[in-house]
Amino acid sequence: VIAKGQGEHSVTTTCAYCGVGCGFKAEMQGSEVVRMVPWKDGRANEGHACVKGRFAWGYATHADRITKPMIRAKISDPWREVSWEEAIAHAASEFRRIQDKHGRNSIGALVSSRCTNEEDYLVQKLVRAAFGNNNVDTCARVCHSPTGYGLKQTLGESAGTQTFKSVEKADVIMVVGANPTDGHPVFASRMKRRLRAGAKLIVLDPREIDLVKSPHIRADHHLKLRPGTNVAVLTALAHVIVTEGLFNERFIAERCEKQAFADWREFVARPANSPEALEADSGVPAAEVRAAARLYATGGNAAIYYGLGVTEHSQGSTAVIAIANLAMATGNVGREGVGVNPLRGQNNVQGSCDMGSFPHELPGYRHVSDTISRELFEHAWNVSIQPEPGLRIPNMFEAALDGSFRALYCQGEDPVQSDPNTQHVQAALAAMECVVVQDLFLNETAKFAHVFLPGSSFLEKDGTFTNAERRISRVRKVMPPLAGKADWEVTMALSNALGYPMHYEHPSQIMDEIARLTPTFAGVSFDKLDRLGSLQWPCNEHSPEGTPTMHVDGFVRGKGRFMITQYVPTDEKVTRKFPLLLTTGRVLSQYNVGAQTRRTENVRFYDEDKLEIHPHDAEERGIREGDWVGIQSRAGDTVLRAKVTTRVQPGVVYTTFHFPESGANVITTDNSDWATNCPEYKVTAVELVRVDQP
Ligand code: SF4
Repeated sequence: VIAKGQGEHSVTTTCAYCGVGCGFKAEMQGSEVVRMVPWKDGRANEGHACVKGRFAWGYATHADRITKPMIRAKISDPWREVSWEEAIAHAASEFRRIQDKHGRNSIGALVSSRCTNEEDYLVQKLVRAAFGNNNVDTCARVCHSPTGYGLKQTLGESAGTQTFKSVEKADVIMVVGANPTDGHPVFASRMKRRLRAGAKLIVLDPREIDLVKSPHIRADHHLKLRPGTNVAVLTALAHVIVTEGLFNERFIAERCEKQAFADWREFVARPANSPEALEADSGVPAAEVRAAARLYATGGNAAIYYGLGVTEHSQGSTAVIAIANLAMATGNVGREGVGVNPLRGQNNVQGSCDMGSFPHELPGYRHVSDTISRELFEHAWNVSIQPEPGLRIPNMFEAALDGSFRALYCQGEDPVQSDPNTQHVQAALAAMECVVVQDLFLNETAKFAHVFLPGSSFLEKDGTFTNAERRISRVRKVMPPLAGKADWEVTMALSNALGYPMHYEHPSQIMDEIARLTPTFAGVSFDKLDRLGSLQWPCNEHSPEGTPTMHVDGFVRGKGRFMITQYVPTDEKVTRKFPLLLTTGRVLSQYNVGAQTRRTENVRFYDEDKLEIHPHDAEERGIREGDWVGIQSRAGDTVLRAKVTTRVQPGVVYTTFHFPESGANVITTDNSDWATNCPEYKVTAVELVRVDQP
């Protein structure tokens, strides 16, 4: 805290929106925030900010905030305000009653990538120690779970390899299925500076994102692939690199598994994996793929940045693996200016995964079936932990419909709006006996809740977020929780009411416990973060001040592992009935399901989701700019206003998902990634028809 004039002071904290993790000074007048000023010493942003972090913080004190705990017997009943003690005692007794009746695996929890590391750690501990099962999952399930899987399998660690600053040393930048200008604006500015200074740009995206043609920037190659064909194009790039002898033999010999490389080399060299063979499926001219592959392999330092356009597919994990294969094959790992860089959508996606919020992993990505890891936590927590993985989010919903899963604790997450196939999620929640929602607002999921526990915004929290470059930064409380309890205190109270005692006096003690039990966090403490500003994990006795670049002298798993990436077309086919493919994304001023940004002045910039449609497809259907359009998929239907644009290619339509009334996820399907169940949000076969105003 820095004192300024009388009654004025500022508090350094971290933005609660995207995975860039910009540092801010919250400037205060007495107890009120008057402005958020980007922090010059913030390593992720160096004094820059975007329209979300800088201006869209007013939701924290919006009139819609719920500040009193509430309960009701049935979801058709009105809410009744109660004391914290009554709400927590009621939730705990319902959880225990349901477990006594239906077994200990009949309840579980969802944690949020919007919450702090300390909050996420505590919820997974509550599930494992107080619920006595592994039924905990994070909203990272529906965004970057394939990143966790794919990078762990190939490189050995479920995280990006670089710092954001590293892009300044890149000669070739490949952006795959990401739109940094809208999704990660402050990093996009850094990337654009490098591009304007002469770095080459390859974009793989079905849509013409801003980077393809922005002032003073032109993509050298825009591989405008059809949605669902990432693996085909990435494997075709590898085919060119292998068959034209452009791979880095020395790097592979020294750093990678010999037999795995030989198998992969034989696989990608097959004629079936050539750009020519895959052109019909992907829609990308073979000559473009060949030119892009040569540029990536021979253009100097080459860095790949990717987003949800890679992961949210039925082959999301395969695509992440294909990206890691490309980086290893060309030796573009282990130094500045290169690497494999997932652009995380939310502020703490990385941290939520690091904290053991998955049903199969304890903190630090240690599998629950591993006896040594389990015993470490059992000893520290004085409980026994089940060795079998628990339920993932979609499994919880399926189990709810078959009657074996009966209660959910949902912290900071709104699956009704954010998960695919809304009708399915609603039916599952309606089938449960007890849904406990902890949130700032009465969100769409709260319509199915029996207990509502008021949550706290980032301005009311002490803790840490971990951004997309593994950077752990402090979040500092600038005002007391409006509801009187911080989120970690609520989880702790629930645990105590369930009979598993937790005693922390401050989130710093939770981080101390994380550090004791997690080797990659062993050197992290609030004191050190206060001293150094931020730390990139791994941070331990080998790297006490953190690790900016990973895999420098060797891969975390020892030798890098090439893996076969067989392209399997998605089940979501276009047909005569559903001839177009819908894909989704975000805009700069709004954020995800919009719970926060919709409650700020940012609605002046974007106040409804629109459907982008190519002029050719619009004309065929008699649709003009601004018309209302009915969209039907195999899962459901909704209505959006048309925006006719050549940004999308013929046969492809595109929308955002920031407004609940647009119902984007009413039409997305149940298809998901084969390895992680990450939903295939990015490919939905649809048909359109012009309709009167809804
Ligand atoms: Fe916040 Fe991301 Fe914008 Fe930075 S770039 S201010 S972290 S939303």
